[in-house]
Amino acid sequence: MNTGLKNKVVIIAGASQGMGRAAAEAFAAEGAKIAIFARNQAVLKEAAQSIEKKHGAEVLAEAIDVTDQERVRKFVAAVAGRFGRVDVTVANAGGPPARNFAGSSIEDWRKAFELNFLSVVFLAKEVLPLMQKNKWGRFITITSTSVRQPIPDLILSSAIRPAVVGLVKSLAIEFGRDNITVNNVGPGYTTTERLNELAGSRAKAAGISEQQIFERWAADVPLQRLGKPEEIADAIVWLASERASYVTGQTLLVDGGIYKGL
Ligand code: NAD
Repeated sequence: MNTGLKNKVVIIAGASQGMGRAAAEAFAAEGAKIAIFARNQAVLKEAAQSIEKKHGAEVLAEAIDVTDQERVRKFVAAVAGRFGRVDVTVANAGGPPARNFAGSSIEDWRKAFELNFLSVVFLAKEVLPLMQKNKWGRFITITSTSVRQPIPDLILSSAIRPAVVGLVKSLAIEFGRDNITVNNVGPGYTTTERLNELAGSRAKAAGISEQQIFERWAADVPLQRLGKPEEIADAIVWLASERASYVTGQTLLVDGGIYKGL
């Protein structure tokens, strides 16, 4: 399948590990030029070097928090300066902490809003005008199956991520005339650091082992296993590719079928 992504300039947020990193690897394998950022300088540097070595890709990497609007603005400008344009952007970050409503503070809500919603706005503000200039662009968000169905004890995700879907649909409508598609990927249980953290807090709450939590999750998935970060990355690459040129404003769940609604 020709994805048409060779030499495209791709920005990926939260890309030092997990799905963001897997997406960076997958885009590099397609011959794209990569610009990544995440909080942890050491882990990010290792990811950048490994991607450069494995795929011979050009990789720009900088330690930036997605909630730091000014640093994000400067990073996007630096990417455009170095590579001449921005074609694809993947908005991603860590997830909010596990909470139910009674256990959540107002500060938790503010932080989750900044991390999982405002950060998407910050990135979109910077990259969409650059994509408009080229009359081509792909803006892709990573959220969760919580945009379709609340997840117990993840009220911050279940309440805030649906706002990202509203944003995605609205951007798809506003920027369609510029040949920019805007889509959202909703992962199910995927084997990353984030899932290890969640397994830890669930195991503690239920008084069972993390292994038992992983087994319960897998049993609930029609495909009877957890997802791999590479499987989420493949969906992101497809949405960014020329093969998905008439798909916009959509949420694609990559969840092994765990969301049972129609
Ligand atoms: P992860 O924790 O493995 O990786 C998150 C990445 O984002 C890391 O590179 C981290 O450095 C970076 N990051 C975190 N906070 C940041 C910040 N403030 N600024 C910049 N970078 C930041 O997570 P993952 O499993 O790859 O998940 C990606 C997203 O998908 C998260 O929002 C997560 O909640 C969501 N999600 C994960 C699962 C799952 O099962 N893993 C399921 C549904 C949704």
